[in-house]
Order: sequence, then C-alpha cells, then structure tokens
Amino acid sequence: MSTKQKTLAVHAGTRLTGSKAVPVSPPISVSAVSWFDSSDDLDGALDGKDYAYARISAPNTTLLEEAVAALEGAEACVAYASGMAALRSLFEAQDFRPGDRLVMPADGYGVTRALYKKLCAALGVELHALKLTDAGTQARIRELKPRLVLAESITNPLLRVADLRELAKACRDVGAAFAVDATFPSPMGQRVLELGADYAVQSTSKWLNGHSDALGGTVSGARSRIDVLRAARVLSGDVLGPFEAWLTLRGLRTLPVRMKAHAEHAAHVARRLAESPLLERVIYPGLASHPDHAVAREVLKDGGPMVSFEIRGAGRPEAMRFLEALKVGRPGPSLGDVCTLVMHAASASARRLTPEERKAAGIRESLIRVSVGLEDPDDVVDDLLQAVAQGVGR
Ligand code: PLP
Repeated sequence: MSTKQKTLAVHAGTRLTGSKAVPVSPPISVSAVSWFDSSDDLDGALDGKDYAYARISAPNTTLLEEAVAALEGAEACVAYASGMAALRSLFEAQDFRPGDRLVMPADGYGVTRALYKKLCAALGVELHALKLTDAGTQARIRELKPRLVLAESITNPLLRVADLRELAKACRDVGAAFAVDATFPSPMGQRVLELGADYAVQSTSKWLNGHSDALGGTVSGARSRIDVLRAARVLSGDVLGPFEAWLTLRGLRTLPVRMKAHAEHAAHVARRLAESPLLERVIYPGLASHPDHAVAREVLKDGGPMVSFEIRGAGRPEAMRFLEALKVGRPGPSLGDVCTLVMHAASASARRLTPEERKAAGIRESLIRVSVGLEDPDDVVDDLLQAVAQGVGR
C-alpha cells in the first residue's frame, strides 16, 4: 500500500485480522458497501451470497431475520424498515390483477386498512373488510375466492380472536394466500404458521423490540414465499438500518420472559378492572366474558398482553381528561414497551378510518386500549381507575 498519508488516512485499518472470536453481542455493521479482492466473490455477493451492498443484504438484518424465523417456526424471514413497509411489501408480492379480491378485518388496525384501501383502489382490486370472527366468514371466503386474506391474531383495538385454523382451511380450499399480522401476541403467544398461515407478519416496533427505540417489521414463512419478498426488497429499498436491527435483536433476546410477565400482568389488570362500576366493559381474551374466550384458549398461549375497556358514559373530552390524568401509564400511541402504554383508540389507532368505518367496527369514543407493562400490576390498575374517575369527574 502507498505510504502517503492521504491514502493511508482513507485505507488503513479497514481489515480485521483473522480473529476466531465470536462476539457475544454482534458488532453493528454500519458499512453500506463492501469491496472484494476477487471479482468472482463480488459477483456472488451481488447475487446475495455475501454482503456487497446493504440494500441487498446486511449482517445485522440477517441475524435478526434468523432469530425471528426461529421464533415464528419459519423457514425464512425478511425484515423491513417498519411494520407498514412489511404489510405493503406483502401486498405487492401477491401480484394482484384488476378484479382480484382481498379480504381483511373490518375491525383491525386502521392504518393497514387505509393502506390496503389505497393500494386496492389503484389496482382495481376489490377490498372486502369482514369481521373475521363472524360465524359466516369461512363460507364468505369460499364464495369470494380472494387472492389474499389478511387476519390479525388479536385485532387492534377490540382484541377479537378469530379461529385461524378455520380461516386457513377456507383459504386453502380456494387457493388464497393467508397472512396473519401477529404483532399483538408476538410469536411467543401465537405461532401462526403452525395454525395454517402462509405468512406471519410482525411490527417489530412493538413487542419484539420491546423498548420503543426502533421501528421495524418482518414477514416470515416458507423460503419460496420469502425469497420473492427478499428479491422485491432489493428493488423497493425498504430495508431496516443496522442500528435498528441491532436494537431489535437485543430486545428480542428477552422476549420470552417479557411476554410471560406482560400476559400475567394483563390478566391481573383485566380481572381487577372488570370489578369497576366506572367501566362499561373490559375486553380481554383471557376473561370468560370475552366473546372469543373459548377460541382464544385454543389458539393463543395465554390471554395476551393487551387489555381494552370502555369508560362508562365517556365521550372524547372525558377520554382526553382520562389520558391526561395518568401517572403510571403513558398516553403513547403504540404498544409493546416495558412501560404501560395507554391509547384512545378512536383518535389514534383508528384515526385513519372514516367515522362510518369506525362505527361499523364498533370502535367508540369511550374505548381505551392498554399495552400492559412490567410495572407492579396493582399500581397500573390503581392508576387507570383514578384516571378514569378524574376523566368522568367522579
Ligand atoms: N400491525 C399492527 C397490529 C399494529 O398495531 C401496527 C402499529 O401500530 C402496525 C402493524 C404497523 O407497524 P409500524 O408502526 O411498525 O409500521
């Protein structure tokens, strides 16, 4: 190499000596580009055999994808810059033609609904928003013969739990691809591929990361399906950055213990909230009063980490006063953190639905969604109930 300082400043220290050490915490590989001594090696890397350019593949993303695939029980996984990017890529991979049909929840995450509505309209695809927990849904899927059915494991924010095994059968009968957004239970609470889904979707921004410090999304499934998505990601550029991948992988390491505690706390919070006369109803799949309790016991590992409730007699002003009165729970529009996050559904997760869509979904102004954190669960309940009392002026 040249001994000229300008050249050395640019080129010295770029090669690691051949250490056999495997770091317990992976290094954050920030380089977007790698170069190769051999043009054959470079050629192979451009086909994805090694790391040439971070839009094709990147080490921290690969490690995260391997970990998520393992948790989902999938052959492969592909990671994206956000959950919405994952859902958009999933849609685009279906190769929709005008006149094709798509089925999705009428009572699911509002942003997914808004995105799919827009994508369907642009392509002339018919969007059928159904309540997937309704008795006639399987028959309707067989009748509609959609190209894609998207379900949510536990719907956002009403926490309905559909029998994925039955939906999967209907999808198989008509050759529909079946995708499940399993963000709410995480792979610890439900392995959707084992229940018959073709794709498992996660917004890793939530429980997998667990600390609200990185957005991300994944789609997992059979290698043949994921390879299509991976090839499309090289073109779309919807990649996850190395630091986000690293943070998400670090969070994921504690997912099993966190999810067990979140579900135990949520069950405790739901049971105590159910005793309050200030609440019209408490929605928790682990409570016998939940409309899908029997199904939930079969398809979920536990009642899950989320609790929703309706404040008796509350409209938007009361709900906003409630949020401002919280002292332990944080009124943040997300879920999946170690701290309790509390959200007014109509103005946050369902914000992008039209008032008619919200009404049809059953999302009222009095509906509150709680992502139960790791604080002492009695502190969480006491805080929610004092804030409810303040919200409604009691
Ligand atoms: N899916 C569900 C069920 C969600 O709740 C969210 C976000 O709240 C998303 C997908 C979108 O994920 P992201 O915010 O990572 O884009």
